[in-house]
Amino acid sequence: MLFILCAIVLLGCGQTFAANQRINLNLAIFLGEDEHSKVTEIAIKNALSIIKAKTKYHVVGHVFPLQESSTFEAGQTVCDVVETGVAAIFGPESPQINEVIQSVSSSLQIPHFQTFWNSKLQLNESQTYNLHPSAESLSQALSTLVYENDWKKYTVIYENEDSLMRLRESLKQRKPNDLAVTFRKLGTGPDYRPILKQIKSSEDLHFILDCKADHILEVLRQAREVKLLEDYHSYILTDLDAHSLDWSEFIGVVTNISTFRIVDPKSASAKNAGKLWMIDPKTIKSKTALMYDAINLFITAFRDLAQKEEIEIGPLSCEDYYVFEHGDKIFNIVKKPPKNSRSILPGYLTGPVFFDKNGQRSNIDIQIVELMKAEYGFRVTGTWNPNNPTAITYKLTSEQREKELEKEIQRKNFKVVSRIGPPYLMTRVPEYGKVYYGNDRFEGYAMDLMAEICNILNCSYTFELVPDGKYGNYDPDRKEWNGLIGHLLNRKADLAVCDLTITYERRLAVDFTTPFMTLGISILYAKPTKEPPELLSFAGPLSLDVWLYMATSYLIISMIIFLVARLNPNDWENPHLCDPNPEELENIWNIRNCCWLTLGSIMAQGCDLLPKGVSTRMVTAAWWFFSLIMTSSYTANMAAFLTMSRMELTITSAEDLAAQNKIKYGCLAGGSTCSFFKDTNFSTYHQMWVQMESADPTVFETTNPDGVKRVLTSKRKYAFLMESTNIEYESERNCDLIQVGGQIDSKGYGIAMTANFQYRKSFNEAILKMQEGGVLDLLKNKWWKEMNGGGKCSEEESSEEDELGLDNVGGAFVVLAMGIGLALIFSLCEFLWMVKKLAVNEHISFRVALEHELRFAINIWARQKKVKRDPLPIVDKSDLKTK
Ligand code: ASP
Repeated sequence: MLFILCAIVLLGCGQTFAANQRINLNLAIFLGEDEHSKVTEIAIKNALSIIKAKTKYHVVGHVFPLQESSTFEAGQTVCDVVETGVAAIFGPESPQINEVIQSVSSSLQIPHFQTFWNSKLQLNESQTYNLHPSAESLSQALSTLVYENDWKKYTVIYENEDSLMRLRESLKQRKPNDLAVTFRKLGTGPDYRPILKQIKSSEDLHFILDCKADHILEVLRQAREVKLLEDYHSYILTDLDAHSLDWSEFIGVVTNISTFRIVDPKSASAKNAGKLWMIDPKTIKSKTALMYDAINLFITAFRDLAQKEEIEIGPLSCEDYYVFEHGDKIFNIVKKPPKNSRSILPGYLTGPVFFDKNGQRSNIDIQIVELMKAEYGFRVTGTWNPNNPTAITYKLTSEQREKELEKEIQRKNFKVVSRIGPPYLMTRVPEYGKVYYGNDRFEGYAMDLMAEICNILNCSYTFELVPDGKYGNYDPDRKEWNGLIGHLLNRKADLAVCDLTITYERRLAVDFTTPFMTLGISILYAKPTKEPPELLSFAGPLSLDVWLYMATSYLIISMIIFLVARLNPNDWENPHLCDPNPEELENIWNIRNCCWLTLGSIMAQGCDLLPKGVSTRMVTAAWWFFSLIMTSSYTANMAAFLTMSRMELTITSAEDLAAQNKIKYGCLAGGSTCSFFKDTNFSTYHQMWVQMESADPTVFETTNPDGVKRVLTSKRKYAFLMESTNIEYESERNCDLIQVGGQIDSKGYGIAMTANFQYRKSFNEAILKMQEGGVLDLLKNKWWKEMNGGGKCSEEESSEEDELGLDNVGGAFVVLAMGIGLALIFSLCEFLWMVKKLAVNEHISFRVALEHELRFAINIWARQKKVKRDPLPIVDKSDLKTK
């Protein structure tokens, strides 16, 4: 429907404008038929009256509201209006009816100003200017913002196919490794919930919402209903008027919502316009501002040209060949205004206007604004300009940003997910009659760590357990993560705190803080169980056979020496050295002496009786040689035997484990330790993985404590590959456990958080602060060495000295005691025998002789003993009788 608002005042047909005349100018203005056009009309009227007041021009604006689909009407209207003699055409606001208007303006060479985003714009060879930022500029601004926000994966929610044009640049800049962009068409509305629910299930967090400003609030309202407006979501709205909506119902929404705008409501011209049009400058729509700027631009150029030459505007016809003669000149002046030219209206609402050679607006500042969380409205975070298309000039300093985050953190209660595993998180054993709730149910390193962090950041937290108790592994078949990582990805928690290892694969899915603990994979093994040494352990270095053979040899050799000595004349000696021709020769090598000689040599003590004959010496030498070999072998073996019994370890490294198959080894199923062996390129570890996988029964354990238990009960037939921190914890408490070898790799535990967690920097800083202040060491010491029976084994070890115990040498003492005992018995027997002989020889009673000899024996000062006895005491007859 064609509706003419202003009466067409045909005053200037066929006129020539001279210097001092009041000049009438007709402008044809095509607007849309929406509610916002009213404000545009007010803006136009206002502009025209300013022009009238400030110049000699009486400008009449012929405003035609047109429906989007009325192409035929548009054609007719434009042809009708050019017959009245128009100096310029403005609008329309939509691309649908633009073509017909642009073709008329182009063929009649009437300057034409467009104010909408036109993806199909062909400006070459035409008289058309487009004041709206070009499709390319908007697309580049959007792509730069996406890049700066570090969005690797996002969903484009769009309303029509123009979105693809707007996003062209942003899509071009994507790298091959970036995850796919998802496109979702919004549909016709007004119920967008089905599509929003689908988007929600895709688990994407970042969205570009490309729909008309009028629909934005409704879409976001419904997004809020389906929980797509949480604090970890972020949106970029592409409509340049999004900031001008009434956002009051979204005060307090924690989602990051950013958009672009070309009208700065805080600029002097916007404030001035707001006052004149009696509206809030924040609500000025870009199309109104662009129309205002277009009129300003044209009238300024017209004035500049009219100052140089006379301009004639006559009626034209769509069916004629006549064209607007000065159209070309005005076009050129708009493109390149004289240096001292000042705009007639007070300033441009969208900033200085420049065009490229095709008449497309260039060099426009696009502001990036974000919805404030606690207050009403948007604030500028940066600006984008086509001169530097790959960068955003930020207005908000990082300090300001940090301060805001600090404040936000104080309002947060972080949901922390964890799993039970000592000493990181353990369930508290309730004292009698007490029931624990909330965080009080747990204790451990992770709880203390969070408490310290929140002490620094002034935040609060609530712990909960992950239902499946797993750390987090990706299942390629189901295409999903389990455990703590899955929990974070499903947005059921903000943070995951426990002994969660930072791995590359996990890092792609979630974010991690800097590590709060460093570690590596190592081997947990059982110490050799120490059997108490046997009493006769000194006999251990030689086998029983050897001992028996030695004893037999000893006896045989002793006998041989005895026999050989009897046969050998050199061993028959003169007993009286002063008598050269003795009547008898004596041989000292009786059985006793022979045994003594052989015993002395095997004990490495020697003997002062030595044979003289060649053959006896040869036998003795042979025995000495045998003794030398046997004693040194015994000594060497004894040393090795004692050392071995103390540190009997069969494996010392992962390589040793890999090279054998007697000791089985495994790791925690579904943990990063197993993943390390699974994904490694190092042949030894890969071979270990193959061994582990093929082992039957399985060598994998579901928890670390299970692995520890298996090591303890398998009698050194099983080793568990575990992280060094956990090995340290276990071997502090169970002294039968030992870490074998060093660390196979090097990694760290970090606090996992949802991707793009905005408080990550604050958490990192808190961790660094704790590291530098020694708090992390204190916590580790507390939970490793002090709590739950820690420090037990280090104490034990220190008391255990590196020397032989009584047990080891007890046998030697026993042999000594037996020797002494035997010697005492023999000495007693010898003594009694001697007393008996004395009693018989001296004809005295046994008792008297015993008394006499005993008295002498205990008189330790008597150094000499008489051979002839002193006169004996009178023998008592009764005494003799008793004998
Ligand atoms: N800390 C490991 C993880 O995060 C568990 C392990 O493999 O020992 O998966």
